[in-house]
Amino acid sequence: MIEDKTPQRTSISQLGEFGLIEHLTKHFEIKNESTLKGIGDDAAVLDFSNKKAVVSTDLLIEGVHFDLAYMPLKHLGYKAVTANLSDIYAMNAKATQITVSVAVSNRFPLEALEELFAGITLAAKEYNVDVIGGDTTSSQKGLIISITAIGEANAEELVYRNGANPTDLLVVTGDIGAAYMGLQVLEREKQVFQVNPNNQPDLDNYTYLIERQLKPEARKDIQGILKALEIQPTSMIDISDGLSSEVMHLCKQSALGCNVYEDKLPLDPQFISVCEEFNIDSTTIALNGGEDYELLFTIKMEDFDKIKGNPNFSVIGHMTQASEGIHLVTRANTKIALKARGWNALQEE
Ligand code: ADP
Ligand code: MG
Repeated sequence: MIEDKTPQRTSISQLGEFGLIEHLTKHFEIKNESTLKGIGDDAAVLDFSNKKAVVSTDLLIEGVHFDLAYMPLKHLGYKAVTANLSDIYAMNAKATQITVSVAVSNRFPLEALEELFAGITLAAKEYNVDVIGGDTTSSQKGLIISITAIGEANAEELVYRNGANPTDLLVVTGDIGAAYMGLQVLEREKQVFQVNPNNQPDLDNYTYLIERQLKPEARKDIQGILKALEIQPTSMIDISDGLSSEVMHLCKQSALGCNVYEDKLPLDPQFISVCEEFNIDSTTIALNGGEDYELLFTIKMEDFDKIKGNPNFSVIGHMTQASEGIHLVTRANTKIALKARGWNALQEE
């Protein structure tokens, strides 16, 4: 369905390993003071002076985490970076550096890798992080990408998963579920395309959902917004595996229970109408669809007034004692136990 926009095919073996690394990395610029040495030596050198360093890493395998049939390589590079930065923001930290490692089979021409790195470069620029190193090697089959993200924070500003207290409010940023429905739309179009390659998909009604799936943004802004509101979250996590599963992580690590209210879940109108079109329950997807890269956090009850009416945030529930369990309170005001199915489990249905 995505046309091959790289008719020129330069074999990567033509450049050799060092030529390839040089070619792919020569455009990276260093912008952060904490980067003393970036690409070009045996290791990068960083200096966070009196701040704490935060590190997170992710591994993406072709066919498991992404499908190149509808994921353009530039988007893949962008998403690989933002998904990783999201983990740094979930610590209430500022992202400062990434390393990028790739393994490619020779079925990828140089032009394909250039596309991938164009996406990585764009994300690094928009999120103001320095690419300080990585590794480049060959794979027997398919594409593998591993990104490590590094960030900094003052010790007292870091937020862990285990800091929530009973009666704290549970807050989510943005809206949820859209990335999963974007994937459903793309999967459907892929099937249509396989049957009839001349059929050009009409995706106008799905632009927001597809963008949430193919070009997700991480919540770089939240740390600053919360600081300006003088709110220090008590616990925080990013929503990569679906809301339910992340709520359970916060509850488990903080040794608490919680009530999530169905009517408080922030849903985009396009998400709601496409759920209707697919005849899928929007609450199920909002709870279990993944890859939204929003942040889920808890705040003290007395901070409610600071957050009330703020379009960035929705208060979706509150924490309780562990003995009360983890529940969804439905629109009909019945309590059902929240299950973490995660988006992988959903896909197998
Ligand atoms: P080494 O032999 O020490 O592994 P390499 O020749 O693999 O070094 O890499 C040379 C430099 O290029 C290093 O600074 C390394 O971090 C960087 N580098 C290699 N591959 C990548 C990549 N895919 N993205 C960013 N930097 C890379
Ligand atoms: Mg190397």
